Amino acid sequence: DTRHKILLYLEGVSVSFDGFKAIDDLNLYIEEGELRCIIGPNGAGKTTMMDIITGKTKPDNGQVWLGSNINLLEMDEAQIANAGVGRKFQKPTVFEFLSVWENLELAMAGPRGPWQVFLSKLTGEQKDDIERVLSIIGLSDQLALSAGSLSHGQKQWLEIGMLLMQRPKLLLVDEPVAGMTHQEMDRTAELLTSLAGQHSVVVVEHDMDFVRSIANKVSVLHQGHILAEGSMSEVQNNAKVKEVYLGE
Ligand code: ADP
Repeated sequence: DTRHKILLYLEGVSVSFDGFKAIDDLNLYIEEGELRCIIGPNGAGKTTMMDIITGKTKPDNGQVWLGSNINLLEMDEAQIANAGVGRKFQKPTVFEFLSVWENLELAMAGPRGPWQVFLSKLTGEQKDDIERVLSIIGLSDQLALSAGSLSHGQKQWLEIGMLLMQRPKLLLVDEPVAGMTHQEMDRTAELLTSLAGQHSVVVVEHDMDFVRSIANKVSVLHQGHILAEGSMSEVQNNAKVKEVYLGE
């Protein structure tokens, strides 16, 4: 029985906007601890798929489950975030005037709201938690710097760190390396790879070299459903995939 090893389960999911099927009978299964890349041409439905997982968009049909007992379709966005789904959008949205440490402190508050965190003294355990995340994202030496003074790459890692403060089961990451230097891309590959195992990570990315460097398994989305799935070389040699990407 593979079912209980699956963390994210989308089956027969469809959604239409004004009669246009943006997601069309989509099946997607993400295992616990897996790092999966989703690729696909513009308009394939990648953003809509992420919106469905986080509850921003509700599908017309289908099933969306986290593990075998959490029905995400019965929850709103805040409840889904609380259930362990973290989403990182393409642009970093850190608090520029706060320090790296304070950004992580704020993120720890989550739905309880920031004031409670700033008004009460951190426990030793909470400090350990921030230090643990600082070390994962490689910003331990920058903890006192204002987030606004960080490089683009460092801001992206800080935002991933902010999500990690909530200990998500599933991390959804949208185009993490857009605008990054090669060095920052390598560091991001290391970071995302190190998060897999502890978390399931789903990355939407256009940079094929980056995808090749991180993912064991790639899903190709096209016209709202999965066209092919497998290793990067498998999907690249797939005739249907070649056809879709021809001229891109
Ligand atoms: P991708 O992220 O892969 O580029 P999207 O999920 O953004 O694709 O879009 C899939 C299709 O659905 C596109 O044709 C887009 O124009 C359409 N679409 C997405 N969101 C809406 C919306 N809110 N209203 C109408 N059409 C939408």
